[in-house]
Amino acid sequence: MKIEHIGIAVNSLENSDDLFARLLGRSNYKRESVEREGVTTSFYKIGESKIELLEAAKPESPIGKFLDKKGEGIHHIAFGVENIQNEIERLKKEGFAFISEEPKEGADNKLVVFLHPKSTNGVLVELCQEKP
Ligand code: ZN
Repeated sequence: MKIEHIGIAVNSLENSDDLFARLLGRSNYKRESVEREGVTTSFYKIGESKIELLEAAKPESPIGKFLDKKGEGIHHIAFGVENIQNEIERLKKEGFAFISEEPKEGADNKLVVFLHPKSTNGVLVELCQEKP
């Protein structure tokens, strides 16, 4: 396991891509829309980890609701795992709750699931595995 990326909700990728490019001294390496989630993402490499900026493609999407309620800021922490199915089983046995137990296709060639923040001290935790 490693911290694969940190997800940050932003109001405008246009503004935030400029800000993060100046902050990190490098450009994003990809922009990608995940239509099913109603989100547009922008990725930056930082050593072994990444920053994922998240912009709502529509206001009623999960990111749109998050921005509405909490405003811009850290949205989730993603742990990279070797085998997502094994980790889901292990964490279920440990009593953790998932938003959905079925891995879905996420951005950046990943299978992803989210743990429910009520079981992780209010932190939205994503598990992600590189797609085979
Ligand atoms: Zn993520």
